[in-house]
Amino acid sequence: MNFKRIKILDTTLRDGEQAPGFAMSVQDKIKMAKILTALGVDCIEVGFPASSPDDFTAAREISASAETQIRVIARCQEEDIHKAGKALTNAQNHRIVNFIGISDLHLHQRLYLSKDQVIRKAVDSIHQALTYTPFVDFALEDASRADPSFLVEFLTAILEAGAQHISVCDTVGHMIPMETKHLFSLLLQRFPETTFSAHFHNDLGFALANSLVALEEGAKIVECTLLGIGERAGNTSLEQLAMVLHKKKSLGFQTNIQTTQLALACDTLCELVDYQIPVNKPIVGGNMFLACSGIHQDGLIKNRANYEYIHAEDIGKVVNPIVLSKHSGKAGVQYVLKSLGLPHACADIQTAMTFLEQQKGLVDAQLFKKKMCALNGKLQIINA
Ligand code: MN
Repeated sequence: MNFKRIKILDTTLRDGEQAPGFAMSVQDKIKMAKILTALGVDCIEVGFPASSPDDFTAAREISASAETQIRVIARCQEEDIHKAGKALTNAQNHRIVNFIGISDLHLHQRLYLSKDQVIRKAVDSIHQALTYTPFVDFALEDASRADPSFLVEFLTAILEAGAQHISVCDTVGHMIPMETKHLFSLLLQRFPETTFSAHFHNDLGFALANSLVALEEGAKIVECTLLGIGERAGNTSLEQLAMVLHKKKSLGFQTNIQTTQLALACDTLCELVDYQIPVNKPIVGGNMFLACSGIHQDGLIKNRANYEYIHAEDIGKVVNPIVLSKHSGKAGVQYVLKSLGLPHACADIQTAMTFLEQQKGLVDAQLFKKKMCALNGKLQIINA
């Protein structure tokens, strides 16, 4: 099968970091940039240099030593582009992405620009950015709510001005997959040679699904964040998209993401921003690789595939999947007793079951071991 190599642009340090509760220091960003490089992302969007001195410093430091491509963002304003360019002075492999809102709503209710004015502003900004780097991208903010005919007119002008990768942004996360299919098919039919990058927000919970549809329609880049952090409900989650493309080979897409680095990358981010992953979060949640109900434990012991689609080692984790609770069945309890070095206690499985039935929540394996030894009068095993 011929795989189509698609690129992952990570914006954890930009869109992710600008959401409430996820602020990172310069040092945090430097650390995360190394982790993202090891993870295999194709481009790291490190920040918005004009937005704060810290963003400028982080962009400058990371881009000077990065082994992967770095992108910084700038509004279509001279000072923004100047700062973006200055932040990249010592960078090897870099891009600037200019952005501006192009929906009627943004034009009339926020930017107070006519369609002609916004096109002129965008074209001028591309010319200016090209004096700092040969790689200038453009992010179409609120593209998903823009008038399609204006979208085409705007794109024609900015491509002519030299913009390269075009981020199509569903800024408020209102798109559903059917609408995404329509939008990207229109864009790809009209601009078949253009590299489109999909930037989705998750307000309706479709960021991942929309990203997949965009790929199917011909987008070549997906913009993601670790754990899906980002404005409001966040962005397309990198670990989810990477695992979907890794598992669903039939889609025919390939990335450079090393899935065995996913747990480390997400854990490091959590540590830096003091965030706890919800236990039922796809791919990296604490419950992903655990089973405490009898039927699932029995099935897992017979063959992991019975109840596991993704394995802990796929994301670089080591997990003992069988945990004890009042829901545990005999097979699971026997398995744990054996793994605790209490094979004799297996004979008295009923004692173990009765004990567990009286417990609330999960039962710690070592506590369980002590209890079983005491109940069975086999304390000598603990000392052995
Ligand atoms: Mn965004």
